[in-house]
Amino acid sequence: MAKPRIGIFSFTSCEGCSLAILECENELLDVLAIVDIVNFREGMTEKEDDVDIAFVDGALSTRRDVEHMKHIREHSGLVVAIGACAHTGGVPAMKNNLNLDETKRYVFGDQADHFDSIPARPLCAEVQVDAALPGCPMDRAEFLRLVLDVAQGKTFRLPNYPVCVECKLQGNPCLFDLGLDCMGVVARAGCNAVCPTFGDPCEACRGYVDHPNTQSHQEVLTKAGRTVEEIMHRYTRYNSFKPEHVQ
Ligand code: SF4
Ligand code: SF4
Ligand code: SF4
Repeated sequence: MAKPRIGIFSFTSCEGCSLAILECENELLDVLAIVDIVNFREGMTEKEDDVDIAFVDGALSTRRDVEHMKHIREHSGLVVAIGACAHTGGVPAMKNNLNLDETKRYVFGDQADHFDSIPARPLCAEVQVDAALPGCPMDRAEFLRLVLDVAQGKTFRLPNYPVCVECKLQGNPCLFDLGLDCMGVVARAGCNAVCPTFGDPCEACRGYVDHPNTQSHQEVLTKAGRTVEEIMHRYTRYNSFKPEHVQ
């Protein structure tokens, strides 16, 4: 049986999620035993269009990005969004909270008119996405599991419970009880609650669970003297994108 052909593509991002694939140093030869990588700008000069699985990092933040992403979709069997930028809009979508023209001038100065910037958006705002590997950056172990599952014809699934579950399993004190905030009540688990374990609030870099228990979140916030609006305003780093940003 022919090995699945893989392409790894990047849009607006730090490309840290593509880099995470190169950093699978101990596993890369095993990966190459079950798949062929045929397009990967960070790792090779050859570029082939037709792939069985396209792994894509980065948000779409220019009209050119959108057209290129549609081309990738047409030439790929499966499209997998890797990392928060591609999955939820991530850091690039923070600009959607600002005036776009002013932001362009601030970043590009008198060259601003050469850039066809649009509000940044996740891949799913423009094309069908078959799976996502969330996080900033994505989790390398989840990437390897997905590649193995696809090669074996299995269905890949992400955890669909909140970070609080993993946080409790770690035996951490809740940050709300220490006077801090946290998004772990509604954020998707799978990171082993790494941030609260080291005393930092969860900022939901892995996005939200499919059906967040917003009532429970509200109760936790009310008990801590916070409102949902206040906390959502504070945690905009990874989840700023809203469907109305697509014109
Ligand atoms: S999700 Fe984070 S690590 Fe990945 S490309 Fe975006 S900014 Fe970089
Ligand atoms: S709210 Fe944050 S600190 Fe508290 S249990 Fe949940 S993940 Fe842990
Ligand atoms: S704890 Fe929250 S912010 Fe930290 S890695 Fe996990 S989902 Fe991301």
